[in-house]
Amino acid sequence: MLETLHRIVKKVNAAPDLEKALRTIVLMVKRAIDCDACSVYLIDANSRGYVLAATEGLRREAVGNVVLPRGRGLVGLVAERAEPLNLSDAPAHPRYLRISETGETRYLGFLGVPIIQNRKVLGVLVVRKKAQREFTEGEVAFVFTLAAQLAGAITFAQANGELDTLKTTSRGSRFLEGSPGSTGVSIGQGVVAYRMADLDAIPDRTTEDIKAECQAFRSAVTAVKDDLHRLRDRLAEEITAEDIALFDALLLMLDGDTLVTETIALIEQGQWAPGALRRSIAAHAQVFDAMEDVYLRERASDVRDLGRRILMHLQSDRQGPVQYPVATILVGEEVSAVQLAEVPSDRLVGVASASGSSSSHVAILARAMGIPAVMGATNLPVGRVERRELIIDGYRGRVYISPSPAVRSEYERLIEEERELTAEAESLRGLPAESTDGVAFPLFLNTGLVNETGNANNEEIAGIGLYRTELPFMVRDRFPAESVQAANYRRVLQAFAPRPVILRTLDIGGDKPLPYFPIREQNPFLGWRGVRISLSHPEIFLTQVRAMLCAAAGLDNLQIMLPMISSVSEFDELEMLIKRAHDELLEEGHAVAMPRIGVMIEVPSAVYMIEELARRVDFVSIGTNDLTQYLLAVDRNNSRVGKLCDDLHPAVLRALDQIVQGVRVHNRPVGVCGELAGNPLATVLLMGLGVDSLSMSVSSLMKVKWVVRSVSVARARQLLRAALRMEDAQQVRRYMEEVLDDMGLGGLVRPGR
Ligand code: PEP
Ligand code: MG
Repeated sequence: MLETLHRIVKKVNAAPDLEKALRTIVLMVKRAIDCDACSVYLIDANSRGYVLAATEGLRREAVGNVVLPRGRGLVGLVAERAEPLNLSDAPAHPRYLRISETGETRYLGFLGVPIIQNRKVLGVLVVRKKAQREFTEGEVAFVFTLAAQLAGAITFAQANGELDTLKTTSRGSRFLEGSPGSTGVSIGQGVVAYRMADLDAIPDRTTEDIKAECQAFRSAVTAVKDDLHRLRDRLAEEITAEDIALFDALLLMLDGDTLVTETIALIEQGQWAPGALRRSIAAHAQVFDAMEDVYLRERASDVRDLGRRILMHLQSDRQGPVQYPVATILVGEEVSAVQLAEVPSDRLVGVASASGSSSSHVAILARAMGIPAVMGATNLPVGRVERRELIIDGYRGRVYISPSPAVRSEYERLIEEERELTAEAESLRGLPAESTDGVAFPLFLNTGLVNETGNANNEEIAGIGLYRTELPFMVRDRFPAESVQAANYRRVLQAFAPRPVILRTLDIGGDKPLPYFPIREQNPFLGWRGVRISLSHPEIFLTQVRAMLCAAAGLDNLQIMLPMISSVSEFDELEMLIKRAHDELLEEGHAVAMPRIGVMIEVPSAVYMIEELARRVDFVSIGTNDLTQYLLAVDRNNSRVGKLCDDLHPAVLRALDQIVQGVRVHNRPVGVCGELAGNPLATVLLMGLGVDSLSMSVSSLMKVKWVVRSVSVARARQLLRAALRMEDAQQVRRYMEEVLDDMGLGGLVRPGR
């Protein structure tokens, strides 16, 4: 039976669309168990009833036409109870509803099993027998197990469907759901991102003229570099140098990197240039695809984008220039940062991508340009939105296609309000980030891309609160040399001096493996990561610390932060190593100063050891991303449990409270550098907790500052006390939304004001 089950699920998963998937289900189930009919009913788009979506045994003409009303009939009963129902004589049941159009009156035995995904009943799988007999326990178990597996397959198949699968709001307007990529709302016309050459369709082919193929490949690479430089220059005036670094990273990949040399090597083995390119791009993308870290996984799409660009030049089949409407919303299966850059910025008003997440380059770029973006809208019917009117709601991750006049005018109003809100936020520039009762909350920047210096002129930034050093390690094919690291750190330290810069030591492992330092573990998040690797490999740690100390020579603004500390001995040992690096450098004649050393609190054990840790360190910074994942036991990158990973959970707030109080015993400064610090919904709570500083991405700065300037610490403490008593994250979230509404700042966390 298990094998039959696997076969059915596999076949359903491979079906090209929902209709075929459902046909496969009913056909195979009817064959697999002793029954006379098998049908699937799915909840209709308006949730008013259950539509007969497929059948084998009942009348085919009824498919799509028969709707069983909610709350009535046996199918309704199964859905209501969300439990199987096994009857020998269905018509004798008081809830039986006679539906003659399906021809089901001939059947007596009835087994209905709910199809449930994420606690929601998607439909009901029904098998019928003519005979007056219940289904056996084995049959019930089979259909039950199958229905559980099919829920995923149905969701997946729906995702491949088109406009008929759209959800409907209470007002009857359809929208597609994705995740917020960049906040804001906009209305415009869809332009499907330039469909480039299909690399996957390139066959293997041998070549006689290796020299000519190499030459063709090299000129294609040069042409792509020229394109990238051109786009980079065009954007240079609009986005910060930090975001421009995305283009630098792509250019870096083409500059003597393994991508080019590996392709050339394949050509030299006799493969023609397009085939060699396909292979080396696939190999590179695969490395990134396999990474746990969402940021790095997204790099796979950059690699594929580069591949398609090179192929396009190899094939010389450039299309003519696209005519962009005045308000363009760029739409695509996998919109790339470069495609976004191709749209004239005065015409680009929104982005919707069927794949990707808020860590995608295109989302990062959209945030930098202040353009709303929705990512991972899996149902997006890309082929059907060209030139159609779209609305992008980057707060809620929604895309409206051909919105109704009512929805349109509602969003027009929200856009107007957004404009007013932004103008008001800008008027706070230059004013101090302090509460109404005069307590300062300096706002720092989280950073870690290749080129960090772009924000140095931004006077809103008190310094760098978290520099994630692992990214420069990840974009290379070996550990960067001490001098390379030092040059990197120097750039940042110098640009922000005299403001403090907190460099975090290498936090690899877990979700951030290095391609050249493979770690295979069952539970990487609970394994060899962060300072655990530093302690096993002091040579890697010492090299990095030496680079940091040398980089700070004469600047005196370096602070070193240690990630993933779970016990005090780890700190003691690492502190000794830092002192050793310092002494050695002095002996070698370098004029380096001993930096302030701090720890990140992101592991529950460190929360309980906070006093002992605080006594030893110069500062504490709370990493709420990991702290939430470890406290709540939810993988922060697993979308299945994504909704549980809520950093507003009262357990997280209580842990923060304990940390702040523990740190206060030794009078050390304590900041927050996890995502919570940049969420305006949490600002009041963090102020109430009494943290000393907040570190966030540049796009959150003005919003958080606005909240800081709108409330007193005394009031924030009261609100915090109430939140600390709450029982779940939803309650805290709703409460804080009301608080922001009362302050007139609800618009910071949703469309409009
Ligand atoms: C955190 O865990 O909150 C944090 C800031 O570190 P990272 O997101 O890099 O793990
Ligand atoms: Mg962390």
